[in-house]
Amino acid sequence: MKEMLKATIKNLFSKPVTVKYPEEPSPPPIGYRGLIVYDESLCIFCTKCEMVCPPGAIKFTYKDNGKKEFHYNPYLCIYCGECVRACPKPGCLTQVENTAEPAVAQDIPEWNLIERKAEESKRKFLAERAKRKK
Ligand code: SF4
Ligand code: SF4
Repeated sequence: MKEMLKATIKNLFSKPVTVKYPEEPSPPPIGYRGLIVYDESLCIFCTKCEMVCPPGAIKFTYKDNGKKEFHYNPYLCIYCGECVRACPKPGCLTQVENTAEPAVAQDIPEWNLIERKAEESKRKFLAERAKRKK
């Protein structure tokens, strides 16, 4: 009885251990990794990030002049941080605490087009490069 009374008084004056979600956002856990932020000015277009990304959330498309363009799908990203670790240019890829907003229908077909363009433009670029080498 004495112990119970002690615990009751202690709990009356202690802070709640729960958060008032969704009114108050939950604090991110320690070591939490979120969305990828890309800084093109630091990029050397080595495509290592694309190669290591498990779900294929990073794609490069090739322009006719061979220049590469970075694309990132926050809805595919699993926040593993592999691309950040693989990137040889510090600060080029960073992870912020934010997660992606819920996907809207038009985001998905747009990404399908980027994926197709990435594959086709890369194939074309490599074929032309091989032709030039002959
Ligand atoms: S954090 Fe992981 S899943 Fe997200 S883009 Fe980087 S490698 Fe891909
Ligand atoms: S790994 Fe880094 S430097 Fe290489 S293409 Fe990706 S973002 Fe650019």
